[in-house]
Order: sequence, then structure tokens, then C-alpha cells
Amino acid sequence: MRPPALNYVRAASPSDAAELLGGNAIPIAGGQGVMRDIRARTLQVGTLVDISRILELDYIRLTDDALEIGAVTTLATVAEDPTVRANLAALATAAGRVADVQIRNRGTVGGNICGSWVPSWWGNDVGTVLSAAGGEVTVLGRGGARSLPGAEFVAAETNPLAPGEIITALRFPRWDGSAYIRLSRQWADAGIGSATACVRRAGAGITVGLAVGRVHHRSVRLDDVARTIESDGLDAPSVRAAIADATRGFTVPSTTHADADYRRAVLPVLVHRAVSAALDNGGIR
Ligand SMILES: Cc1cc2nc3c(=O)[nH]c(=O)nc-3n(C[C@H](O)[C@H](O)[C@H](O)COP(=O)(O)OP(=O)(O)OC[C@H]3O[C@@H](n4cnc5c(N)ncnc54)[C@H](O)[C@@H]3O)c2cc1C
Repeated sequence: MRPPALNYVRAASPSDAAELLGGNAIPIAGGQGVMRDIRARTLQVGTLVDISRILELDYIRLTDDALEIGAVTTLATVAEDPTVRANLAALATAAGRVADVQIRNRGTVGGNICGSWVPSWWGNDVGTVLSAAGGEVTVLGRGGARSLPGAEFVAAETNPLAPGEIITALRFPRWDGSAYIRLSRQWADAGIGSATACVRRAGAGITVGLAVGRVHHRSVRLDDVARTIESDGLDAPSVRAAIADATRGFTVPSTTHADADYRRAVLPVLVHRAVSAALDNGGIR
């Protein structure tokens, strides 16, 4: 369907974007989610503020304690970047699992983590990694800059950004190893479930960051499960029980890809595979 008539403006800087946004104006980055919703009339917009050419939001930077990605960095860039692959393999894998090459070439990490509350929900693969890693979302609005916990951002029921705010960057703390597992029948379908694990050496033990996606309608961090793995070990029966407890309240629909019982049953397997792969990735065992 053709989109209805709307206005289009291009922002020159993050502060320019913050000035242009608000009311019925929203940001467009890669446009891979927003144009679909506008054409389907599931989203009514007066003005699109194009932030995709703001070069200062297009970067990948490794610091002593974090990996920082500018909001308009494309998914294709993140998937292929050697710094991301070496320092947060889960993020490179997740970005590389989004849709197809055309969408990854245009779609951005900032747009991807907004996937939770846009009408055309397709999961948000990057958001699951942000949640597991304990990452932060940096935003800028007319009132200045602030940071939001990534896990809360991607699990929010409605858009947590104030009118006029844009995401400027995603910040991931450094981990020793990480892995992202997404189970789907075909590469680009909506999927059956996903799990991200991040691991770090902690004395004789490990610290674990864990989140699951594509099961419930949000990506959710599983802190109690992570603590159980740290104390009892990955293969302990208590881990399976902790996953059952943590996911009991999930809304898990049956789809053409798998029924709800299967999707629940496969979650412990995905978690086990993700943590195992993260330990291997970090050279921890
Ligand atoms: C066929 C198809 C398959 C898909 N498959 C997947 C998939 O497998 N996995 C997956 O995770 N996603 C998938 N998607 C969803 C989506 O295309 C991608 O997540 C994409 O990365 C969105 O990024 P974008 O830059 O194109 O966002 P846009 O479409 O430009 O924006 C999406 C939303 O985010 C907001 N937004 C964008 N950037 C910012 C910012 N910096 N600050 C504030 N708000 C912002 C926009 O206002 C809009 O509400 C799919 C989409 C389609 C159409």
C-alpha cells in the first residue's frame, strides 16, 4: 500500500533532531520498521525526522569498560565489525540474524531496540543482547542527555522515550565471552525462541548475564536463572526449575512455527546452548 502524505525533514545533529521531534513527528533511521507500519496504516505520523545521516551517531568504539555503538550504525556494520565480533560475539551474531541482507543494510541498532512496541513486532534481536549484557541506552532530548537500563528499555510495554528524545547510543559492558542462539524453522521467519548469554570470570567462578526473546512478547532478562547457574553449575537440575519459575508468567502463543508447549519446552535447551557457547567463546572451559 502507498504511504499517506506526510512531511519529511532531515536532522543535521542529535540536538537538531530533538528540536524537530515531538507532537506527531517521529524519528526514522533505516525505515525498515516504520515505513511498513505507515503503509499498513497501523501508525499515523505527520512528520518523519530522518536521523540516519547524523554521522556523529554512526560509530563503534571500544573503551576500557564498554563497547559503545552509535544509534544509527547499521545492523550489517555491527554484524561484520571485527571489534564487535572479538569483544561481544553475541551482538555480532544477533545483528547478523535480523531479517535479510537488505534490511540489515538499512536497519540500525537504535531502530532495532525500538522493535518492542512498534505495531509490526518482529522481535528485537539486538535488544535481547542489550538486556543480557546489562547494557544501557543513552538518549538525548530537549532536557539534555540521560541513560536508561537496556533491560528495562526492551521489556517496556510502551515506548519509554519522552516526546522529542532520541536514542544516541547503546553501551554494552565488557564480558569475557558471549553467545546468541536463535531457533527458527527458516532463517528470516519470526522464530521459535532465542537466548543470549554473557559470561565473565569471577574468582574461581563465573558471573552470568542471561536473557531470552521471541517467546514472550518482550525480551526478558533472567536474573534468578543466572544466579542459579553461577551457584549450582549449568548442568544442575535446579537450573531447569529456575527457568520454569522465571518464565511461568510469560504469554507464549502457538504459531505456525511451533506450538506454545514446544516453545516453552525448548527454552531450557536454548539457555543451555547459549551459556555453553558463551563459555567456549570466552575460553572459560
Ligand atoms: C520483513 C521484516 C523482517 C524483520 N525481521 C526482523 C528480525 O528477524 N529481527 C529483528 O530484530 N527485527 C526484524 N525486523 C524489524 C526491523 O526491520 C528491524 O529491527 C530494523 O532494524 C529496524 O531498524 P530501522 O533503523 O530500520 O528502524 P526504523 O524503521 O527507522 O524505526 C523503527 C522505530 O524505531 C524508532 N527509532 C529508530 N531509531 C531511533 C532512535 N535513534 N531514537 C529513537 N527512536 C528511534 C522509529 O521512530 C520507529 O518507531 C523485520 C522487519 C521486516 C519488515
